[in-house]
Amino acid sequence: MTEDSTRPVLRDRFGRRIRYLRLSVTSACQLDCFYCTPRGRDGTARSATCLKSEHLIRAAEAAARVGIEKIRLTGGEPLAAPGITELVGRIRAVPGVSTVLATTNGLALETLAVPLRRAGLDGVNVSLDTLSPARFAAITGSSVLEKVLRGIDAALGSGLSVKLNAVMLRNINDDELPALARYARSHGLFVRFIERMGPVSEMARSFTRAEALEVLRADLGPLEPLEVDPEHPHVERFALEAWQMGFISPVTTNFCAGCDKLRLTSDGRLMTCLAQTRSASIADLLRDPAAQRELDASFRRAAASKSFASATCDPWGMRRIGG
Ligand code: SAM
Repeated sequence: MTEDSTRPVLRDRFGRRIRYLRLSVTSACQLDCFYCTPRGRDGTARSATCLKSEHLIRAAEAAARVGIEKIRLTGGEPLAAPGITELVGRIRAVPGVSTVLATTNGLALETLAVPLRRAGLDGVNVSLDTLSPARFAAITGSSVLEKVLRGIDAALGSGLSVKLNAVMLRNINDDELPALARYARSHGLFVRFIERMGPVSEMARSFTRAEALEVLRADLGPLEPLEVDPEHPHVERFALEAWQMGFISPVTTNFCAGCDKLRLTSDGRLMTCLAQTRSASIADLLRDPAAQRELDASFRRAAASKSFASATCDPWGMRRIGG
């Protein structure tokens, strides 16, 4: 991202520049991935407490006024939220917002990729943990793998930038990482293999980046380490000829030092980290058009209060916080 000297700069007390807001558009999702939210723990209907589009836009405006440049829509499933195409267009038009991205399960891309691209969406990260229909159904609770794969094709055809997210699940998809890598390579996609976060008792069982690297190298050949991309300091990158892939390793690596993010939960709580346990609600400020100054101040306060690093993440609030 290029520096713009006319833009406000938001820094935390460690001097890190905070440019990136993850906006959880809804806590609802059509899928029920067992590692994301324990079955039945969250409703699948859009919660009454979720922020409305106008409040999300107000959040984006306030964030941009204080220095945020990049916004990722997440959830829950952001592309299942009513009015998502219009929301993307409105957020992309906010002065100072240079990039709007979404993290998605891919189910809506078959129909929405083109309209979203036209509305100004820059790219999507699509979650894909398996290429086996039976495993997909076991992981997500739904037999819709083919629809996700068609969604990925539609996204590639629409001109969106597309990446894949694959959570590594011991004894579930750990034997399939090379197949996922080959799928990504054949589609020209950057895949990020993610260590599974969970309750501390389960973290020790996470399939690690080191284990995955061994399996992938044995199958694909030499994967050459690359320099960290300063835009994505949490991703460890490797190259195989012209193709690249990466690891996000929250269990075995601490990559907090380069963190440039704030998060807004679907019910309007401003968070400085996925691992944070307490957070301030700005929902009332977002509902009050006259509260612009307080709203801007709450974003500045949140940035100022960021910890340098977190211990571990408990992701059970992932849908509400936004993964
Ligand atoms: N519904 C969207 C999706 O499927 O990508 C966005 C929300 S989801 C919470 C965002 C990302 O968080 C997904 O890539 C998902 O795989 C990841 N995620 C969820 N639970 C996780 C966990 N326990 N450990 C690591 N990643 C997780």
